Amino acid sequence: MIDKSNLFKVPNSNSNDAKIKKVVYEIDKSFFEKFKKDSTNKEYLCICSGGTTSGCAKDNYITVDLRKNYNQIKFDKKTGIINIGGGVLMDDLLKNLDEFNRTFPIGLSTLPGIGYILTGGISPLSRRYGLAIDSVISVKGFFGNGEYFSLNEEKIIEEKELKIMEGIKGAAPFFTIITEIGLKTFKSYPIKIFEGFINKNELEELIIKSEEFPQT
Ligand SMILES: Cc1cc2nc3c(=O)[nH]c(=O)nc-3n(C[C@H](O)[C@H](O)[C@H](O)COP(=O)(O)OP(=O)(O)OC[C@H]3O[C@@H](n4cnc5c(N)ncnc54)[C@H](O)[C@@H]3O)c2cc1C
Repeated sequence: MIDKSNLFKVPNSNSNDAKIKKVVYEIDKSFFEKFKKDSTNKEYLCICSGGTTSGCAKDNYITVDLRKNYNQIKFDKKTGIINIGGGVLMDDLLKNLDEFNRTFPIGLSTLPGIGYILTGGISPLSRRYGLAIDSVISVKGFFGNGEYFSLNEEKIIEEKELKIMEGIKGAAPFFTIITEIGLKTFKSYPIKIFEGFINKNELEELIIKSEEFPQT
């Protein structure tokens, strides 16, 4: 039955309007059991992390909303690694890191969730630190068939695990529900911002100049 009350609220207005079938807040093995028992019982799932895209909720789909129960953030001062839940917003990630004078290459907005990281994540800091996905060092979650996984790049010994990790780092949203990721973080430096009005030609000139900037 379609839940018309639509208590599900996200930043993306198309998703807000979706007539979703159900919202699920907890994901574990039992969630997949009913589909395993009866192969004709098929459901289409949407995953919601930051809820900034139209992919986080659709008419007649079940949404797995990770924002409520997967919003944990834990920073390890010794290693500089931060572990975050699948429903953490980039805003909260940065705010937490700021307390330790650390940073992460988020994109132009603080609104997105970990969908930003899992889809690559191009940041104004990418020239120096790479794509957001390059900083992922561990992942936990479920494959579409309900199988649980927990992988850490530094502890991988089997070829099969390495291949899975590579797959996740390229295409996680296509075959997994990620409940937690571990990320490398970087020392935070002050940024100098120059503001001014420029014409089209000057903009072209500046773009070419910036391409020649040193990586730092
Ligand atoms: C204002 C704004 C500015 C942006 N700027 C940039 C930018 O500078 N650089 C850049 O690279 N991108 C940028 N983006 C794009 C943004 O990174 C992507 O749209 C991203 O997918 C949004 O993530 P989300 O978690 O908010 O989305 P959601 O709508 O919650 O999720 C989008 C999709 O991501 C997948 N997904 C999310 N979480 C999980 C999970 N835990 N496990 C498995 N799959 C998951 C699902 O397929 C889901 O359908 C911007 C977006 C906005 C709205």
